[in-house]
Amino acid sequence: MNLTDLKFVSEKREKDFNKLNIYSQEDLVRHFPRDYLDLTRTDTIASAYHNDFILTLCEVVNVEFNRYSRRPYVKALCRQGDYLFTAIWFNQPYVAGKLTAGEYLFYGRVQNRYGLGASMVNPTFERADNNIKLKGYLPVYPLAGSLTQGAVRTAVKQALSNVRIVSAIPDALQKKYGLIDLKSAYAGVHLPTGAECAAAAAERIAVEEYFLLVSAFKIIKGDSRTARLRTYSVTAEDVKNFAARFPFELTKGQKDAVNAVYADFKSPDVMNRLIQGDVGSGKTAVAVAAVFMALKSGRQAAMLAPTEVLARQNAALLKKYLPEYRVEFLSGSTPAAEKRAVKKGLAEGSIDAVCGTHALIQGDVEFADLSLVVCDEQHRFGVGQRASLTAKGAAVDTLVMSATPIPRTLTLIFYGDLDVTTIKDKPAARREISTSVIPARRYGDMLAYISSEVKKGVQAYFVCPKIEGDDEGSVMSVTELFEELQKKMPGVRLGLMHGKLKDRQKNEVMEAFRNREYDALVSTTVIEVGVDVPNATIMVIYNAERFGLSQLHQLRGRVGRGDKQSYCFLLMGSDTEVARARLSVLKNNSDGFAIAESDLNMRGGGDFMGTRQSGHVIGDLKNLRFPVSAIFTAKAISDDAFSSAAFDTSELRRAAMQKYNKLKDVILN
Ligand code: ADP
Ligand code: MG
Repeated sequence: MNLTDLKFVSEKREKDFNKLNIYSQEDLVRHFPRDYLDLTRTDTIASAYHNDFILTLCEVVNVEFNRYSRRPYVKALCRQGDYLFTAIWFNQPYVAGKLTAGEYLFYGRVQNRYGLGASMVNPTFERADNNIKLKGYLPVYPLAGSLTQGAVRTAVKQALSNVRIVSAIPDALQKKYGLIDLKSAYAGVHLPTGAECAAAAAERIAVEEYFLLVSAFKIIKGDSRTARLRTYSVTAEDVKNFAARFPFELTKGQKDAVNAVYADFKSPDVMNRLIQGDVGSGKTAVAVAAVFMALKSGRQAAMLAPTEVLARQNAALLKKYLPEYRVEFLSGSTPAAEKRAVKKGLAEGSIDAVCGTHALIQGDVEFADLSLVVCDEQHRFGVGQRASLTAKGAAVDTLVMSATPIPRTLTLIFYGDLDVTTIKDKPAARREISTSVIPARRYGDMLAYISSEVKKGVQAYFVCPKIEGDDEGSVMSVTELFEELQKKMPGVRLGLMHGKLKDRQKNEVMEAFRNREYDALVSTTVIEVGVDVPNATIMVIYNAERFGLSQLHQLRGRVGRGDKQSYCFLLMGSDTEVARARLSVLKNNSDGFAIAESDLNMRGGGDFMGTRQSGHVIGDLKNLRFPVSAIFTAKAISDDAFSSAAFDTSELRRAAMQKYNKLKDVILN
């Protein structure tokens, strides 16, 4: 159903909706609020905490307009009972004309800095007469272009009554699990009567989504037993001899993983295996061994990595451990002539293995006889992208490596289509990374300590969340940090790395760091994935409260890769109880899986899965807040539905696969 069929949706407005990936009324009802405004009750400013959003009824006593300040502002002195506070509006001179002495409703953020008394900055306001609009429990949507909350609310409301919404879960099971009607759930998310209503509705929708997804994985797994076309002639003896090429003894976990791959290659079915292991558990060695087994059997292999830095790192490793084979590298930045040569070699079969980025997925990359695909750090790829690489050969064996320490309990849901091997141990020489939260007053000491350490020959990372600072100026940008550190750490050679650099520049910086031309790398999270520089032993993370725990754990995993003692220093931009509690989980824990489990429990399913940090953004559920239990309920219902003869599974299969196909490029992306 078209958007322009809705009242008040012009073609111009339609374009704004398109920017939000909304193209139909169906999309619109799935445009979930990112938050709610609770205007069902008023609070007193005296009882509000710093940064609370409140709706409050107060008396404006006096209004003053300062147009000559650097930032012109309007300031109102307000009274609530015998409590006085100020409200201030910056760069909104028109407020001076609208506000006079009298009763008002204010809605906005409270600032309550110690000793300075409370104030409100840029609150929305309305005269407290009989005709109040600031009321109810209102959805707040992500916006684009010139869309306003009002415009989205009106459009969604209409779409809700036009779009047909039916649950794929059989009625009997809906009853058994006490589910509310799906259509009312959509209404409840968009037009809730209060917080409880919105939460129950979100949970119901999450159950539906995960029911379909889990069912799809179940179907795919059941159907994906593809018969093996190619045999591998490699022998157990060959593999054993190959393992001796590593300068280290493989850990028990690595050996088990290599054996699992070997067994897959010898089995009658095509391999679809996930090697899951915490950062630093040595997954790359397993991947290299898998590639060896394929090449030794006279087959072709491709290794896909999410970034050029990683792909190059992989290519270098393969070349090192497989000198008797021809290994090439391919990325978007490979010069045209070289690209042509690599493509030709792959198509003819003269190249045995290729490492690359998304460039490998392109249609014009052909293989003589592609047999094995290895995806490193697969959560950065959509399932669909992985599929388009395996489609370049028939019945291709797939090995996926993931360091996203997803909670064990969720493995089945995310990787339901794969067999899973978990590497539980780490190379023995590793020492625990000492992790501490650095209070602001110790910042200078920390920099001095790092300066002296790097002069002794170790290297450090300084990571901050953003390339550019944010509007409020509360987060430093990576370039600002770079400049600051240059001043504060004279004599320390600093490299600068961020996502806006060209791939070629990123490589140069990375290589220079690897070659110890820099003592420290100031970076955004582009270094998060897979980078392996064992000489780096210090990791400093700015605004640590802004990262997901799993992401922090990944970042921390960039150090502690050699046998030297490593350190992770966490700096907090804003200091809250919650942030402290979360960081202490990290401090007291070195097992990524346990950390992810705590993260999940502390944040709830929607938040955990909805952020890029988890590595598992699930389609458009990202704004829904639901408890993790919704996922387990969904799985229980799916198990019930497929194990009982009472339900028509052909209908379920259709719905599940339709959902899967729609999501396959965004799941795990
Ligand atoms: P990840 O699992 O995070 O991808 P890597 O494969 O990058 O980990 O390995 C991390 C580091 O540990 C590398 O420097 C690698 O050479 C080293 N390593 C891997 N396996 C072992 C082992 N069995 N013993 C000692 N060091 C190892
Ligand atoms: Mg890795």
